Amino acid sequence: MFPLGHAGITLALAVGLAYVLKKEWEPKMFLLAVVVGAWLPDIIDKPVGVLLGYAGGGRLVAHSLLFAVTFTLLALSINRFGKSKSGRWNALVSHVPFVAFGSWMHLVLDEIWWNPGVLLWPGYGWGFPIGEEFDLISVLLTPVVLIGEVVGGVILVGFVVWNFRLK
Ligand SMILES: [Zn+2]
Repeated sequence: MFPLGHAGITLALAVGLAYVLKKEWEPKMFLLAVVVGAWLPDIIDKPVGVLLGYAGGGRLVAHSLLFAVTFTLLALSINRFGKSKSGRWNALVSHVPFVAFGSWMHLVLDEIWWNPGVLLWPGYGWGFPIGEEFDLISVLLTPVVLIGEVVGGVILVGFVVWNFRLK
């Protein structure tokens, strides 16, 4: 999946999760946390992958279960023990778990289970599958990708309008 799909679909699910868990959130920090999380594996892996010559930018350590679990434990620890006297800081800290949620959703939307060598790294060895060259435009025009981008974009715009314009 591509950036808008990742960000928008993850945002909708995060709103649902926060609602179910009755977790309070502040729109700006929530948006930032969820979107950073939704993009995190690509933000980390793509530049490194390009430098190392993996086709398509590669899916490396940040797309592994090991990374997701480690990052989640870190996020929950920051959330649990990182509180201070500053209300603004505490608000920031309370949104950190949404970054972890976003990065888990990234793995789901990438359907990373089709890449067990990445998902279960380093279970199948220290290297990563080299990946396949792909044509960006033709992948973008695949219906499922295109629909994902449009739906994600609409959700993002809807979220921003609802939270920053109507109130
Ligand atoms: Zn990815």
